[in-house]
Amino acid sequence: MDTPAPLIDPFFRTISYLRVSVTDRCDFRCVYCMSETMTFLPRKALLTLEELDRMCSAFVRLGVSKLRVTGGEPLVRRDIMTLFRAMTRHLDSGALKELTLTTNGSQLERFAGDLAAAGVRRVNVSLDTLDEAKFARITRRGRLPQVLRGIDAAQDAGLRVKINTVALKGINEDEVFDLQAWCAARDMDLTFIEVMPMGDLGREDRLNQYWSLKDLRTRLAGRFTLIDMAAHTGGPARYVQLRETGQKIGFITPLTHNFCESCNRVRLTCTGNLYMCLGQEDMADLRTPLRASADDSVLEGAIRAAIARKPKGHDFDYSRQKAGGQISRHMSHTGG
Ligand code: SAM
Ligand code: SF4
Repeated sequence: MDTPAPLIDPFFRTISYLRVSVTDRCDFRCVYCMSETMTFLPRKALLTLEELDRMCSAFVRLGVSKLRVTGGEPLVRRDIMTLFRAMTRHLDSGALKELTLTTNGSQLERFAGDLAAAGVRRVNVSLDTLDEAKFARITRRGRLPQVLRGIDAAQDAGLRVKINTVALKGINEDEVFDLQAWCAARDMDLTFIEVMPMGDLGREDRLNQYWSLKDLRTRLAGRFTLIDMAAHTGGPARYVQLRETGQKIGFITPLTHNFCESCNRVRLTCTGNLYMCLGQEDMADLRTPLRASADDSVLEGAIRAAIARKPKGHDFDYSRQKAGGQISRHMSHTGG
Protein backbone atom coordinates (compact mmCIF):
# COMPACT_ATOMS: atom_id res chain seq x y z
CA MET A 1 0.00 0.00 0.00
CA ASP A 2 1.28 3.50 -0.88
CA THR A 3 2.17 5.74 2.05
CA PRO A 4 -0.27 8.67 2.00
CA ALA A 5 1.18 12.17 1.55
CA PRO A 6 1.87 13.92 4.88
CA LEU A 7 -0.37 16.69 6.18
CA ILE A 8 1.14 20.01 5.13
CA ASP A 9 -0.70 23.28 5.72
CA PRO A 10 -0.74 26.39 3.50
CA PHE A 11 2.27 27.80 5.38
CA PHE A 12 4.35 24.67 4.71
CA ARG A 13 4.10 23.42 8.28
CA THR A 14 3.93 19.62 8.58
CA ILE A 15 1.24 18.50 11.02
CA SER A 16 2.69 15.70 13.10
CA TYR A 17 1.07 16.22 16.50
CA LEU A 18 -2.56 15.59 17.48
CA ARG A 19 -4.05 16.44 20.84
CA VAL A 20 -7.29 14.65 21.42
CA SER A 21 -9.77 15.55 24.12
CA VAL A 22 -11.66 12.43 25.18
CA THR A 23 -14.15 14.07 27.53
CA ASP A 24 -15.23 17.55 28.62
CA ARG A 25 -15.90 16.26 32.15
CA CYS A 26 -13.59 16.63 35.09
CA ASP A 27 -13.47 15.81 38.77
CA PHE A 28 -11.98 19.27 39.48
CA ARG A 29 -13.26 22.78 38.72
CA CYS A 30 -10.06 24.84 38.45
CA VAL A 31 -10.88 28.54 38.76
CA TYR A 32 -9.10 29.53 35.52
CA CYS A 33 -10.58 26.65 33.51
CA MET A 34 -14.21 26.12 34.51
CA SER A 35 -17.04 27.84 36.29
CA GLU A 36 -18.41 26.23 39.45
CA THR A 37 -21.58 25.25 37.62
CA MET A 38 -20.67 23.60 34.35
CA THR A 39 -23.14 22.02 31.97
CA PHE A 40 -21.37 19.07 30.41
CA LEU A 41 -22.22 17.52 27.10
CA PRO A 42 -24.70 14.65 27.06
CA ARG A 43 -22.73 11.39 26.88
CA LYS A 44 -24.22 10.49 23.51
CA ALA A 45 -22.66 13.61 21.94
CA LEU A 46 -19.18 12.19 22.54
CA LEU A 47 -17.27 10.11 20.05
CA THR A 48 -17.29 6.50 21.20
CA LEU A 49 -13.97 4.88 22.07
CA GLU A 50 -14.12 2.97 18.77
CA GLU A 51 -14.66 6.24 16.91
CA LEU A 52 -11.77 7.86 18.75
CA ASP A 53 -9.61 4.91 17.73
CA ARG A 54 -10.66 5.33 14.05
CA MET A 55 -10.10 9.06 14.20
CA CYS A 56 -6.64 8.83 15.82
CA SER A 57 -5.63 6.00 13.49
CA ALA A 58 -6.56 8.10 10.44
CA PHE A 59 -4.30 10.91 11.69
CA VAL A 60 -1.48 8.43 12.34
CA ARG A 61 -1.87 7.10 8.80
CA LEU A 62 -1.55 10.67 7.54
CA GLY A 63 1.73 11.19 9.38
CA VAL A 64 0.85 12.18 12.94
CA SER A 65 3.61 10.68 15.08
CA LYS A 66 2.77 12.19 18.45
CA LEU A 67 -0.57 11.77 20.17
CA ARG A 68 -1.52 13.47 23.42
CA VAL A 69 -4.71 12.43 25.20
CA THR A 70 -6.31 15.21 27.22
CA GLY A 71 -9.69 16.60 28.28
CA GLY A 72 -11.43 17.57 30.62
CA GLU A 73 -9.81 14.94 32.75
CA PRO A 74 -8.97 12.06 30.40
CA LEU A 75 -8.72 9.48 33.18
CA VAL A 76 -12.35 10.01 34.29
CA ARG A 77 -13.67 8.80 30.92
CA ARG A 78 -15.04 5.30 31.42
CA ASP A 79 -12.87 2.53 29.92
CA ILE A 80 -10.33 5.06 28.62
CA MET A 81 -7.60 2.40 28.87
CA THR A 82 -9.26 0.71 25.88
CA LEU A 83 -8.18 3.67 23.74
CA PHE A 84 -4.62 3.69 25.12
CA ARG A 85 -4.33 -0.05 24.54
CA ALA A 86 -5.70 0.38 21.00
CA MET A 87 -3.00 2.95 20.26
CA THR A 88 -0.25 0.52 21.32
CA ARG A 89 -0.45 -1.10 17.88
CA HIS A 90 0.70 2.16 16.28
CA LEU A 91 3.61 2.39 18.71
CA ASP A 92 4.50 -1.21 17.88
CA SER A 93 4.39 -0.51 14.12
CA GLY A 94 6.66 2.51 14.59
CA ALA A 95 4.14 4.90 12.99
CA LEU A 96 3.49 6.54 16.34
CA LYS A 97 6.62 7.74 18.14
CA GLU A 98 4.95 8.99 21.28
CA LEU A 99 1.69 8.37 23.13
CA THR A 100 1.18 10.62 26.10
CA LEU A 101 -1.42 12.37 28.26
CA THR A 102 -2.10 15.49 30.26
CA THR A 103 -3.85 14.80 33.55
CA ASN A 104 -4.70 16.42 36.85
CA GLY A 105 -3.24 13.32 38.51
CA SER A 106 -6.28 12.44 40.60
CA GLN A 107 -6.67 8.99 39.00
CA LEU A 108 -3.00 8.25 38.30
CA GLU A 109 -2.55 5.99 41.28
CA ARG A 110 -5.10 3.65 39.72
CA PHE A 111 -3.92 3.86 36.11
CA ALA A 112 -0.14 4.46 36.11
CA GLY A 113 0.75 0.78 35.67
CA ASP A 114 -1.76 0.28 32.83
CA LEU A 115 -0.53 3.42 31.06
CA ALA A 116 3.07 2.23 31.20
CA ALA A 117 2.01 -1.21 29.94
CA ALA A 118 0.23 0.45 26.98
CA GLY A 119 3.47 2.16 25.96
CA VAL A 120 3.08 5.58 27.57
CA ARG A 121 6.50 6.84 28.65
CA ARG A 122 5.78 10.40 29.78
CA VAL A 123 2.87 12.16 31.45
CA ASN A 124 2.20 15.82 32.12
CA VAL A 125 0.61 16.42 35.50
CA SER A 126 -1.01 19.78 36.18
CA LEU A 127 -0.25 21.05 39.66
CA ASP A 128 -0.35 24.71 40.65
CA THR A 129 0.52 24.53 44.35
CA LEU A 130 1.95 22.25 47.05
CA ASP A 131 -0.27 23.80 49.70
CA GLU A 132 -3.36 21.74 50.49
CA ALA A 133 -5.65 24.64 51.33
CA LYS A 134 -4.60 26.59 48.25
CA PHE A 135 -5.01 23.47 46.13
CA ALA A 136 -8.58 23.14 47.36
CA ARG A 137 -9.24 26.79 46.53
CA ILE A 138 -7.79 26.58 43.00
CA THR A 139 -9.42 23.27 42.05
CA ARG A 140 -12.59 23.92 44.12
CA ARG A 141 -12.42 20.19 44.99
CA GLY A 142 -9.24 19.46 46.90
CA ARG A 143 -7.54 16.09 47.14
CA LEU A 144 -3.89 17.18 46.92
CA PRO A 145 -2.65 14.01 48.74
CA GLN A 146 -4.43 11.86 46.13
CA VAL A 147 -2.65 13.75 43.33
CA LEU A 148 0.71 13.40 45.08
CA ARG A 149 0.14 9.65 45.44
CA GLY A 150 -0.68 9.59 41.72
CA ILE A 151 2.63 11.24 40.91
CA ASP A 152 4.45 8.69 43.10
CA ALA A 153 2.66 5.87 41.31
CA ALA A 154 3.58 7.28 37.90
CA GLN A 155 7.26 7.51 38.83
CA ASP A 156 7.16 4.02 40.37
CA ALA A 157 5.72 2.71 37.09
CA GLY A 158 8.69 4.22 35.26
CA LEU A 159 6.80 7.12 33.68
CA ARG A 160 8.67 10.37 33.22
CA VAL A 161 6.61 13.14 34.87
CA LYS A 162 6.52 16.78 33.87
CA ILE A 163 4.70 19.21 36.09
CA ASN A 164 2.63 21.99 34.47
CA THR A 165 1.91 24.97 36.69
CA VAL A 166 -0.37 27.85 35.73
CA ALA A 167 1.17 31.10 37.00
CA LEU A 168 -1.51 32.83 39.06
CA LYS A 169 -1.10 36.33 40.38
CA GLY A 170 -1.24 36.53 44.16
CA ILE A 171 -1.96 32.78 44.41
CA ASN A 172 1.18 30.79 43.65
CA GLU A 173 3.65 33.64 43.13
CA ASP A 174 5.26 32.80 46.48
CA GLU A 175 5.72 29.13 45.56
CA VAL A 176 7.93 29.39 42.50
CA PHE A 177 11.06 28.29 44.37
CA ASP A 178 9.25 25.62 46.43
CA LEU A 179 7.85 24.08 43.26
CA GLN A 180 11.21 24.33 41.51
CA ALA A 181 13.05 22.67 44.41
CA TRP A 182 10.39 19.97 44.80
CA CYS A 183 10.61 19.10 41.10
CA ALA A 184 14.43 19.11 41.20
CA ALA A 185 14.45 16.72 44.16
CA ARG A 186 12.17 14.32 42.28
CA ASP A 187 13.89 14.68 38.90
CA MET A 188 10.81 16.16 37.23
CA ASP A 189 10.77 18.93 34.64
CA LEU A 190 8.62 21.93 35.39
CA THR A 191 6.75 24.18 32.98
CA PHE A 192 4.94 27.36 33.84
CA ILE A 193 1.88 28.39 31.80
CA GLU A 194 0.42 31.86 31.40
CA VAL A 195 -3.36 32.10 31.86
CA MET A 196 -5.17 32.19 28.55
CA PRO A 197 -8.49 33.91 27.85
CA MET A 198 -10.57 30.77 27.30
CA GLY A 199 -14.22 30.29 28.27
CA ASP A 200 -16.68 32.08 30.50
CA LEU A 201 -15.62 31.63 34.13
CA GLY A 202 -18.67 33.01 35.84
CA ARG A 203 -17.56 35.53 38.45
CA GLU A 204 -13.80 34.88 38.13
CA ASP A 205 -11.93 37.80 36.59
CA ARG A 206 -9.28 36.68 34.12
CA LEU A 207 -7.13 39.80 34.28
CA ASN A 208 -6.96 39.38 38.04
CA GLN A 209 -5.47 35.91 37.56
CA TYR A 210 -2.94 36.93 34.93
CA TRP A 211 0.70 36.89 36.01
CA SER A 212 3.27 37.48 33.31
CA LEU A 213 5.92 34.80 32.90
CA LYS A 214 8.40 37.56 32.11
CA ASP A 215 8.11 38.58 35.73
CA LEU A 216 8.35 34.96 36.92
CA ARG A 217 11.46 34.43 34.80
CA THR A 218 13.08 37.56 36.23
CA ARG A 219 12.50 36.18 39.71
CA LEU A 220 14.10 32.86 38.81
CA ALA A 221 17.04 34.71 37.27
CA GLY A 222 17.56 36.49 40.60
CA ARG A 223 18.54 33.18 42.17
CA PHE A 224 19.76 30.98 39.31
CA THR A 225 21.75 31.31 36.10
CA LEU A 226 19.31 30.64 33.27
CA ILE A 227 20.74 29.04 30.14
CA ASP A 228 18.44 29.28 27.11
CA MET A 229 17.88 25.90 25.50
CA ALA A 230 17.44 25.56 21.76
CA ALA A 231 14.92 22.70 22.03
CA HIS A 232 12.05 23.59 19.71
CA THR A 233 9.00 21.46 20.19
CA GLY A 234 6.85 23.12 17.56
CA GLY A 235 4.78 24.39 20.46
CA PRO A 236 4.58 27.50 22.57
CA ALA A 237 7.06 26.29 25.20
CA ARG A 238 10.51 27.80 25.57
CA TYR A 239 13.02 26.11 27.88
CA VAL A 240 15.89 27.18 30.07
CA GLN A 241 18.30 25.12 32.12
CA LEU A 242 19.19 26.20 35.63
CA ARG A 243 22.98 26.02 35.73
CA GLU A 244 23.04 25.36 39.48
CA THR A 245 20.67 22.33 39.41
CA GLY A 246 20.80 21.19 35.77
CA GLN A 247 17.03 21.29 35.82
CA LYS A 248 14.90 22.14 32.78
CA ILE A 249 12.23 24.80 33.25
CA GLY A 250 9.66 25.60 30.54
CA PHE A 251 7.63 28.71 29.90
CA ILE A 252 4.43 28.57 27.89
CA THR A 253 3.39 32.04 26.86
CA PRO A 254 0.57 31.45 24.41
CA LEU A 255 -0.20 35.16 24.19
CA THR A 256 2.93 35.90 22.25
CA HIS A 257 3.11 35.11 18.55
CA ASN A 258 6.63 33.74 18.57
CA PHE A 259 5.69 30.10 18.13
CA CYS A 260 3.02 30.12 15.43
CA GLU A 261 5.49 29.78 12.55
CA SER A 262 6.68 26.40 13.83
CA CYS A 263 3.24 25.13 14.92
CA ASN A 264 2.94 21.42 14.11
CA ARG A 265 -0.27 20.59 15.97
CA VAL A 266 -4.04 20.41 15.76
CA ARG A 267 -6.66 19.62 18.38
CA LEU A 268 -9.64 17.30 18.25
CA THR A 269 -12.54 17.78 20.66
CA CYS A 270 -14.43 14.94 22.26
CA THR A 271 -17.32 15.58 19.84
CA GLY A 272 -15.10 15.29 16.78
CA ASN A 273 -14.47 18.93 15.93
CA LEU A 274 -10.97 19.70 14.75
CA TYR A 275 -9.48 23.03 15.81
CA MET A 276 -6.59 24.00 13.59
CA CYS A 277 -5.46 26.72 16.03
CA LEU A 278 -5.98 27.01 19.80
CA GLY A 279 -6.53 30.75 19.45
CA GLN A 280 -9.05 30.79 16.60
CA GLU A 281 -12.73 29.86 16.42
CA ASP A 282 -12.51 28.10 13.04
CA MET A 283 -13.04 24.36 13.24
CA ALA A 284 -13.93 21.42 11.05
CA ASP A 285 -16.57 18.83 11.89
CA LEU A 286 -14.94 15.41 11.45
CA ARG A 287 -17.68 13.41 13.15
CA THR A 288 -20.04 13.71 10.17
CA PRO A 289 -17.55 12.34 7.61
CA LEU A 290 -16.46 9.69 10.13
CA ARG A 291 -20.03 8.48 10.54
CA ALA A 292 -20.90 8.92 6.85
CA SER A 293 -18.88 5.92 5.76
CA ALA A 294 -17.09 2.93 7.18
CA ASP A 295 -14.44 3.63 4.54
CA ASP A 296 -11.89 6.05 5.99
CA SER A 297 -11.23 7.80 2.68
CA VAL A 298 -14.11 10.24 3.33
CA LEU A 299 -12.67 11.06 6.75
CA GLU A 300 -9.15 11.44 5.37
CA GLY A 301 -10.45 13.85 2.74
CA ALA A 302 -12.12 15.93 5.44
CA ILE A 303 -8.90 15.98 7.50
CA ARG A 304 -6.90 17.21 4.50
CA ALA A 305 -9.49 19.89 3.75
CA ALA A 306 -9.30 21.07 7.37
CA ILE A 307 -5.50 21.26 7.38
CA ALA A 308 -5.69 23.33 4.20
CA ARG A 309 -7.53 25.94 6.34
CA LYS A 310 -5.01 26.07 9.20
CA PRO A 311 -4.47 29.78 9.91
CA LYS A 312 -1.10 31.47 10.14
CA GLY A 313 -1.48 32.46 13.78
CA HIS A 314 -3.80 33.40 16.63
CA ASP A 315 -5.47 36.55 17.89
CA PHE A 316 -4.97 36.58 21.68
CA ASP A 317 -4.21 40.04 23.01
CA TYR A 318 -4.09 41.33 26.55
CA SER A 319 -2.27 44.51 25.58
CA ARG A 320 -5.19 46.89 25.94
CA GLN A 321 -5.85 45.67 29.49
CA LYS A 322 -8.89 43.74 28.50
CA ALA A 323 -9.11 40.12 27.56
CA GLY A 324 -9.11 40.94 23.85
CA GLY A 325 -9.29 38.10 21.35
CA GLN A 326 -11.28 36.16 23.94
CA ILE A 327 -12.11 32.64 22.85
CA SER A 328 -15.55 31.58 24.02
CA ARG A 329 -14.91 27.85 24.38
CA HIS A 330 -13.37 26.40 27.54
CA MET A 331 -9.89 24.90 27.57
CA SER A 332 -11.48 21.69 28.89
CA HIS A 333 -13.42 21.48 25.61
CA THR A 334 -10.46 21.73 23.25
CA GLY A 335 -7.91 20.18 25.60
CA GLY A 336 -4.88 22.07 26.85
N1 SAM B 1 -7.51 17.92 33.25
C1 SAM B 1 -6.20 17.78 32.72
C2 SAM B 1 -5.21 18.66 33.43
O1 SAM B 1 -5.64 19.55 34.18
O2 SAM B 1 -4.03 18.48 33.22
C3 SAM B 1 -6.11 17.99 31.23
C4 SAM B 1 -6.91 19.11 30.62
S1 SAM B 1 -6.46 20.75 31.14
C5 SAM B 1 -7.62 21.72 30.22
C6 SAM B 1 -4.89 20.96 30.32
C7 SAM B 1 -4.03 22.09 30.83
O3 SAM B 1 -4.64 23.32 30.53
C8 SAM B 1 -3.78 22.10 32.32
O4 SAM B 1 -2.37 22.15 32.54
C9 SAM B 1 -4.43 23.36 32.81
O5 SAM B 1 -3.72 23.92 33.88
C10 SAM B 1 -4.38 24.22 31.58
N2 SAM B 1 -5.38 25.28 31.53
C11 SAM B 1 -6.73 25.19 31.70
N3 SAM B 1 -7.32 26.39 31.53
C12 SAM B 1 -6.32 27.27 31.26
C13 SAM B 1 -6.28 28.66 30.98
N4 SAM B 1 -7.38 29.39 30.94
N5 SAM B 1 -5.08 29.23 30.74
C14 SAM B 1 -3.93 28.48 30.75
N6 SAM B 1 -3.91 27.17 31.01
C15 SAM B 1 -5.08 26.56 31.26
FE1 SF4 C 1 -10.21 19.88 35.13
FE2 SF4 C 1 -7.82 20.16 34.05
FE3 SF4 C 1 -9.68 22.08 33.75
FE4 SF4 C 1 -8.59 21.70 36.12
S1 SF4 C 1 -7.51 22.34 34.28
S2 SF4 C 1 -10.80 21.93 35.71
S3 SF4 C 1 -8.25 19.53 36.17
S4 SF4 C 1 -9.79 20.05 32.97
